[in-house]
Amino acid sequence: MIETKGLTRTFGSTVAVRDLNLSVEPGEILGFLGPNGAGKSTTVKILTCMIKPTRGSARVAGYDVEQDSMEVKRRLGYVPEAGALYESLTAAEYLGMVANLRGIEGDYAHRKINEFLGLFGIIDARDQRLSEYSKGMKQKVLISAALISNPEVLFLDEPLNGLDANAALVMKQLLRELASQGRTILFCSHILEVVERICTRIVIINEGSTIVDGTAAEIAARTGTSTLEAAFAELTGVRDAADVTRDLLAALSSSGDEATGPSDRP
Ligand code: ADP
Repeated sequence: MIETKGLTRTFGSTVAVRDLNLSVEPGEILGFLGPNGAGKSTTVKILTCMIKPTRGSARVAGYDVEQDSMEVKRRLGYVPEAGALYESLTAAEYLGMVANLRGIEGDYAHRKINEFLGLFGIIDARDQRLSEYSKGMKQKVLISAALISNPEVLFLDEPLNGLDANAALVMKQLLRELASQGRTILFCSHILEVVERICTRIVIINEGSTIVDGTAAEIAARTGTSTLEAAFAELTGVRDAADVTRDLLAALSSSGDEATGPSDRP
């Protein structure tokens, strides 16, 4: 379970999150969307106890993120968008370290690590340094690290980043299965087709507050659009995408003229 009440976070005069009331039940995969700068990362940072709210409260798995941050951390798994891995370690060493920090040890940890690396098809590279891994392989290690402790609540920021089609399929099926087992999942992604397909509910925020909350079908019906992508543009697009594209192309061709301009001059 994830619950926020009047959650607010400011940075100086910037209000990143504004009076946000969010509720995600076990079994739900919530697509948490918004344009750049909407306040998604700040919300996730508060929910994963990395920063404190300025006002309001948040509970994860029944515990308050400020009062009981250790209990919260024990129960969550997090796949960050830009994951920081210790690249001098091998995948097995890194996952061993994470497992250890999570209180998973010995044979059981060893088995779990091999299980995840096998599931993602990178078992043969288990003893290779992470610095030698491709982006997709690193992503598989980050996902394994988030799942190894069998967390109640999962925060996923662009989890399919860099994954090949087969791994992405495994991941999508895994998320559905975890949700059906009663996990609570918050899924941030800009790939709206994926969100539409796997999320049971979607919240779109803008300027720190919720602007719409419902299933993809409900949101499309409410906005009179046929896809989540079109609904997102309708709700958050300051300008029509076709207009922006035309102006960008015009800017590109005029900067091309300027680049060749001076040498053309006598
Ligand atoms: P999103 O993840 O939706 O792109 P963020 O939560 O990163 O949005 O940012 C929301 C707003 O808060 C933006 O205006 C951003 O510039 C600002 N912000 C985020 N983190 C900081 C910070 N550490 N210091 C100052 N401003 C910040």
